[in-house]
Amino acid sequence: MQPRKAVALISGGLDSLLAARLIQQQGIHVEGINYYTGFCVEGHTHAIRNRDRRRVKRNNALWVAEQLGIKLHIVDIVDEYKDVVINPRHGYGANLNPCLDCKIFMVGKARQWIDENGFDFIITGEVIGQRPKSQRKRFMPVIADESGAEDRLLRPLCAKNLAPTLPERAGWVDRELLKDFSGRSRKPQMALAEEFGFRDYAQPAGGCCFLTNQTYSVKLKDLWDNRGRRDYELDDIMLLKVGRHIRPSRSYKLIIAREEGETNFLSGYRHMFPSISTVSHPGPLTLIEGEPLDEKQLELACAITARFSKGRDAESVELCYNDRQRERSIHVKPLAAEQIRQDWIVG
Ligand code: SF4
Repeated sequence: MQPRKAVALISGGLDSLLAARLIQQQGIHVEGINYYTGFCVEGHTHAIRNRDRRRVKRNNALWVAEQLGIKLHIVDIVDEYKDVVINPRHGYGANLNPCLDCKIFMVGKARQWIDENGFDFIITGEVIGQRPKSQRKRFMPVIADESGAEDRLLRPLCAKNLAPTLPERAGWVDRELLKDFSGRSRKPQMALAEEFGFRDYAQPAGGCCFLTNQTYSVKLKDLWDNRGRRDYELDDIMLLKVGRHIRPSRSYKLIIAREEGETNFLSGYRHMFPSISTVSHPGPLTLIEGEPLDEKQLELACAITARFSKGRDAESVELCYNDRQRERSIHVKPLAAEQIRQDWIVG
């Protein structure tokens, strides 16, 4: 008889790794799916910023799949996911994280995928009582129902605390070998990782996506407020991950690199935005997002950029303004720290 087949939602974290291994151990054929939303934390900012240079640069979902020896399907859901972020039916968590809707959406996508690919059930690494809100016990059936996965959704790490699902009732998996983890403590997971011999797994500080990050959420809200509509493109949400965001006026915002790695990254956007770079002193690259600046606004933008350059204490700093058609040289006195108003700083 062909082994039963399960697809595991692989975030790249420890829980999905353990959940998939528990099911693999029962002779089930497991493959993984990783959904790319554009808000993922790992492998992006770490790859950009110099200060993170010592961190391991890897795609954690691929690393997990490699540890498990399974095939991983990375699926781009950037466009479809917008509606989840913009109009979450169950609302947001502490920041702009629509966790419950996100889980429902991803499990729903996985449900479609198993139907199309002849798989039997879905595995997630959810643990009751862990953050975020979607992992509270009362939301577990909501995810199963609203996603359409129903009892083809198995959470091996906390299955014993939940009603038996189809794979358990049908005897495809032995419920007794599943776990009853609950609560925020990570100790049971760490002990199980030790038992399985998994080391060096990802310990993402601040969660799996930028939507749980307060500063990031403030920047996203600012973007929506100032555009007058709740929408975004992939470039928008990428740029919110990088640089200091300073909005001296509703009509424009400066994105100022905080270090060389960010300057290199923002350079890739110079064809899309007017930019300012420093000439007389080492300094950051600034992108200008919004309406074209008048001369006074341009002078202020240059003075702010100069403030973050090595010439911050100089009488005059030379900068180069590039409006994407031509370049011109501008000399300004850097703004003093106290002249940068708190209400200009986004996030
Ligand atoms: S943290 Fe982000 S990816 Fe994770 S469930 Fe919440 S919204 Fe979805």
